[in-house]
Amino acid sequence: MNIEELIRPDLLTLQAYSSARDEFKGEASVFLDANENPYNNGVNRYPDPLQLKLKTRIADIKKTKVNQIFLGNGSDECIDLLFRLLCQPGIDTAAAISPSYGMYGVSAKINQVELKQISLQADFSLDVNQLLEGAIGCKLLFLCSPNNPTGQSFPKNQLIDLVRKFNGIVVIDEAYIDFSEEESMITELTNFPNLVVTQTFSKAYGMAGIRLGMLFASAEIISWINKIKPPYNINQLTQDFALEKLSDLTKVNSEIASIKVERERIKDHLKEIELIEVIYPSDSNFILIKIKDANKTYNYLISKGIVVRDRSNQHLCLNTLRLTVGTPEENRKLVEVLREL
Ligand SMILES: *Cc1c(COP(=O)(O)O)cnc(C)c1O
Repeated sequence: MNIEELIRPDLLTLQAYSSARDEFKGEASVFLDANENPYNNGVNRYPDPLQLKLKTRIADIKKTKVNQIFLGNGSDECIDLLFRLLCQPGIDTAAAISPSYGMYGVSAKINQVELKQISLQADFSLDVNQLLEGAIGCKLLFLCSPNNPTGQSFPKNQLIDLVRKFNGIVVIDEAYIDFSEEESMITELTNFPNLVVTQTFSKAYGMAGIRLGMLFASAEIISWINKIKPPYNINQLTQDFALEKLSDLTKVNSEIASIKVERERIKDHLKEIELIEVIYPSDSNFILIKIKDANKTYNYLISKGIVVRDRSNQHLCLNTLRLTVGTPEENRKLVEVLREL
């Protein structure tokens, strides 16, 4: 596949913004090139536009090369930049499974791109051929696995089949991969030039507040995204904080382990509550349930100070609530209130 043929033609000749930090490469002790305030306070200098220190650490953890990584101001920036890089407004189209993460649709709309929503099966499983058929002619295809809001992962062989057969860029959104029993698609990057994998610091890593998303792809795709990104999209505080947190993953790993244990414990309790009609299998840090009257349950939970997500207006999701796994204490409270009801 020729990636250059997928790039928006008007971007092929783009002269990217060249910052002071881009132009000067080497050693110096006096920086009079960027009109910064010279008095050190920790953040008076512009941050590294390519976040090399942080990427080096991430490459080590994820077993990729540094030039296979792009970092965004949340995954949401990664999604937006993919639309901008590939889709000509009003002309090119993209596709996503439905139900799935809401930002694909919002980002498509903001970029004036039509997003074709292709339905999952009623049990939220995937028919690859149906998806391929629905996405014919699209440049970009989003597939979230484990999927939000359903919680289920798609088998890796299905994803590989999809990437192999789709005639454009496939984005596998792995925001919840750390809670999953499935292996990440990152291992397939070298096999497929049209594969993009996104992950985030917002969920398992416990850093939603610093806004840091990861995008993994071929060095070629990464260099195209780097060309169109805002020059200093990852601020210094975020880079420093993430590096510090990544120096020791023991705490993150133990948090992930207890969230998974709690998920199974909540499920066992929910099974005994008659009001709940279906508990969908979950490979993530939330559980989707189908319940007699989702709206009434939602309001009752609110009256007890517990907020969950009502997903009833999503395709195939009538009368469903999405419950994020909390601390053991929070989960006990949730189960107790549902039991009362
Ligand atoms: C939460 C979530 C993200 C994370 O987005 P950020 O901008 O990185 O916080 C990405 N994709 C999906 C499917 C999510 O549910």
